[in-house]
Amino acid sequence: MLFAALGPSTTRVRWPGSWLEPVEKVSTAMLRRGFEALTLATLVLGTSLLEDEKIKELMQQMTLDEKVGQLELLSRPWGDDFNGESAQWQETLQRIKGGKLGALFNGQGVEINRELQRVAVEESRLGIPLIFAADVWHGMWTIFPAPLAEAASWEPHLAYETARASAVETTASGLMWTFSPMVDTARDQRWGRNLEGAGEDPFLGEAFAVARVQGFQGNDTRANDSLASCLKHFAGYGGVLGGLDYSESDMSEATFREVFLPPFSAFVETNTATCECESECAAIRAGALTIMSAFQALGGVPATGNRWLLTDVLRSELGFKGFVVTDYNADGEMVNHGFAANQSDAARLALSAGVDMSMHSGAFRHLPDLVSNGSVSHERLDEAVLNVLRAKAAMGLFSNPYKTLDPSKEWPKGQGDKIEAHEQLARRAARKSLVLLKNENEILPLKKRGQRIAVIGWWANSTDTDGVGVIWGNKSHTVTLLQGLEAVLDSSQLRFVHGVDPSDASTLLHGLGKDSLAHAVAAARWADVVLLALGESSPMVGEAKSVTTLELPLGQRLLAEAVAKTKTPTVVLLKNGRALELEGAVRNASAIMVTWFLGKMTGHAIADVLFGDYSPSGRLPISFPIKSGQQPLYYNHLSSGRPCIWGWGWNNCYRDAPGREALFSFGQRRIPQPEVMVSLVFEPFSSSQRPM
Ligand code: BGC
Repeated sequence: MLFAALGPSTTRVRWPGSWLEPVEKVSTAMLRRGFEALTLATLVLGTSLLEDEKIKELMQQMTLDEKVGQLELLSRPWGDDFNGESAQWQETLQRIKGGKLGALFNGQGVEINRELQRVAVEESRLGIPLIFAADVWHGMWTIFPAPLAEAASWEPHLAYETARASAVETTASGLMWTFSPMVDTARDQRWGRNLEGAGEDPFLGEAFAVARVQGFQGNDTRANDSLASCLKHFAGYGGVLGGLDYSESDMSEATFREVFLPPFSAFVETNTATCECESECAAIRAGALTIMSAFQALGGVPATGNRWLLTDVLRSELGFKGFVVTDYNADGEMVNHGFAANQSDAARLALSAGVDMSMHSGAFRHLPDLVSNGSVSHERLDEAVLNVLRAKAAMGLFSNPYKTLDPSKEWPKGQGDKIEAHEQLARRAARKSLVLLKNENEILPLKKRGQRIAVIGWWANSTDTDGVGVIWGNKSHTVTLLQGLEAVLDSSQLRFVHGVDPSDASTLLHGLGKDSLAHAVAAARWADVVLLALGESSPMVGEAKSVTTLELPLGQRLLAEAVAKTKTPTVVLLKNGRALELEGAVRNASAIMVTWFLGKMTGHAIADVLFGDYSPSGRLPISFPIKSGQQPLYYNHLSSGRPCIWGWGWNNCYRDAPGREALFSFGQRRIPQPEVMVSLVFEPFSSSQRPM
């Protein structure tokens, strides 16, 4: 038996403020030594065979409740009064002591997490360490460009670098696991979650998926600065019908395998890749330690209860060896799907399908009963526990449960509140993410002297630069567009007008307020060049932010029209988390640059490109439609037997727009003269035009 020589010790612990019943306890020091003494033999998810044996022996000591406990992931209660009266904290602590919790998420900070870990390893019977997780998608404190923006660089190595830097900061904040990268191929721009991934192309998506996993996890998943990654959302989530979040996806198996699966299967292909150096091989062998099952149904079966998906495809075909965690309450929500009768049934379906860990729902608390009455097999339960414990071993948690919990190394202690290399990386990454789509009469680059510049638009002086996937971040360091311009220009050359709020309802209904319109027009008349900062704010993008139209809100369009009337050459700077429908003055502006959500170096990066200190090199990872109604629109569609040739009746055009033609297509940058738009005349055709 594992650690049998130790025998269970009995101890009384004081927590919090009252004496608890004696608990049986295995010494943590010995537990750690047991794992440290292991020699690495064949790697299995970064765990050795010997280690695997130890885990199996540990499992023989576990009660049913303790096994199920390892499969539960809960949100860490907010606030730091964990020693106080909060009922949520009390419950969390009782769970940890009772060995009924596998992991916690959404709480950073070394002090509290260290204490929680201490309770887990010293006060629970078997001393199994917790994993501390969070959504850190593009930076912990130094915020890098959002994933879609970064994909516009078409440089996966850049994503490797920013993920590595994020891992260093995140692990120094007491965390060990990030719910990232999101690798859903996204073909419909109405869906709000495009910003989280690498866009519409599976190949680009795969390259960025591999880079991010390797960046987060580093060369050695046991290292103190290795952040376990989680590929999500498995699978087909980017194909939700109508681009409406949480709807079902329904597609052919061929489309699923060719478009939606590749970024997930990337880690398997890299397992067999030939590596040139030892460290690279180690990173590749590690693979993503975890995968998150998606919310939506795929082909009529919720992904989280989909055995074909989670077992046949993921385990048998792709050979995934880590553990599967549900998305937030995705198991419990199978009741709403009409797939599970109740929470207990949901737990049965999820576990049986191949889920290993349940996030937040509490549904897995039904598992002890389900296993006892034979509704769920002991074997499947043990398999799930083994998957979780193996991942913990691969993270090095058994030998060093405090690996990210060293107070002397806590961010930002001892390193100031910035790391200079990360600052520079944030600026480099942001510059590479910018996509110049249009530049008539070479209006760009601008001159640093002798040009009057009006900056008009709601986000020019806003720190809303992150978009999604940032819980913490160091906002006080964000460089706004205005600050970036001020760093280059003399103040006499610059005027700023806020214009209109991004989604101001009254503006939408009644048009733009006269005062701000008048100010904007006056500034545009004064200027030699206008920088028009339009687009989406963070609350307009991300999860549950689907839209029916990709048009800019009316207020912003009216602002653009008013500025255009001044005839001052205008550079439109778009902030966006999805492709937009660009019309009228926006589309006709002299220049258009896509700036996405660039993170903390927004202002400096845009200024670098505007003034010619850096040549814009980004390319679109998603296609911009001519009309919103073309969605889903993507470049790699099959050819129609009746191509869209305008003037010929029965073909693949819309009545009011070209069929699959984009205004700016995937891969595009700096559009040449848009001949295609000129040559197509959009007029309805009649049935008499039908070719015989
Ligand atoms: C999202 C996931 C996220 C999880 C935890 C869910 O709503 O779909 O992407 O990781 O919440 O915050």
